[in-house]
Amino acid sequence: MNSNIQSEVHGYRSADQLKSSSQMSFNQSGLVMDAMALLRAMRIRLVAFDFDCTLVSIHTGGQWPDSAEKLAEFVRPCFRDLLPELLKCSDIHTCVVTYSPQEELIRDVLRISMKEVTDVDLLISKIVIRGNSKDFLYMHGLEAYTNGKQLHLDFCRSHFDQTGQVPIENNGILLIDDDVTNLKMAQENNHFAFHVDNNVNLNELVCYLNNCVQGGTC
Ligand SMILES: [Mg+2]
Repeated sequence: MNSNIQSEVHGYRSADQLKSSSQMSFNQSGLVMDAMALLRAMRIRLVAFDFDCTLVSIHTGGQWPDSAEKLAEFVRPCFRDLLPELLKCSDIHTCVVTYSPQEELIRDVLRISMKEVTDVDLLISKIVIRGNSKDFLYMHGLEAYTNGKQLHLDFCRSHFDQTGQVPIENNGILLIDDDVTNLKMAQENNHFAFHVDNNVNLNELVCYLNNCVQGGTC
């Protein structure tokens, strides 16, 4: 991707800037806590993850033929570490928004990736997974593929709005995705948007969130 576009999309910091972020915690659990604090500072209420090439490092095309155990080997460590903390809190909701129709497979993959976590079944049950299942495609047709993740986000937001006391605002949503088009559409709808590349790590996410809190380009 063009570096200007990349910078415009997710306002990330350069390697040098990362090295100079001396106040940040350079260990995984510290970075997870930093990310959680920054999400709250941004008043994020819904964190939405893409699946292919985002939660996992490979592209399944929605047609993964192998086991959930095998696919779980490709869950990115940074998100495997962040997900349990997101799911433990009650003020931020978590969802997966994907073109894949394999929603139950995705739930199994995430459960397996978090198998060491206490109460994993309870935590996993809190995730809403909105894929392009048959009923979703029947309802929305091609728009389920051409409107970025907006229809998926609308579904998840209305789900959580039914149970929450305060509606989720547009700027209370963070989309985490590898697809620039999806991110641009999210930004056009006043959501925050974080781009995932092959080398994504918690440092990068924390720097993006910190930049948003500081009022930089997001
Ligand atoms: Mg993707």
